[in-house]
Amino acid sequence: MKKIEHIGIAVKNLESSNALFEKLLGTAHYKVEEVASEGVSTSFFKSGPNKIELLEATNANSPVAKFIEKRGEGIHHIAFDVEDIVAEMERLKAEGFVLLNEKPKKGADNKLVCFVHPKSSNGVLIELCQEIS
Ligand code: ZN
Repeated sequence: MKKIEHIGIAVKNLESSNALFEKLLGTAHYKVEEVASEGVSTSFFKSGPNKIELLEATNANSPVAKFIEKRGEGIHHIAFDVEDIVAEMERLKAEGFVLLNEKPKKGADNKLVCFVHPKSSNGVLIELCQEIS
């Protein structure tokens, strides 16, 4: 794991949260992207070297919709930048972590991603991401 790539925050309404985070961070979001396979619409903010991803569910079966139903809005996941996602997935699997996908998949913002089940990481959903070059 190289560094925290971004922090994902589940929100009910992307538009009003974009306005809120724009005020909070003093900068506008630089991208809105829908990830149909995850049932989410996302937006990204940069604050210095850090990145925040807001996630709004696009349908009732979206994992983000279920998250908000259970826990309300708030921090949804922490994403780590990795050099070699397949190697990192194998390493974590060997350490006993439960991965939510068998193979890396295409995520938002030009990344290959894999999620680690929060049950195996103290209740925190972990995202591994590798920049697609
Ligand atoms: Zn993310």
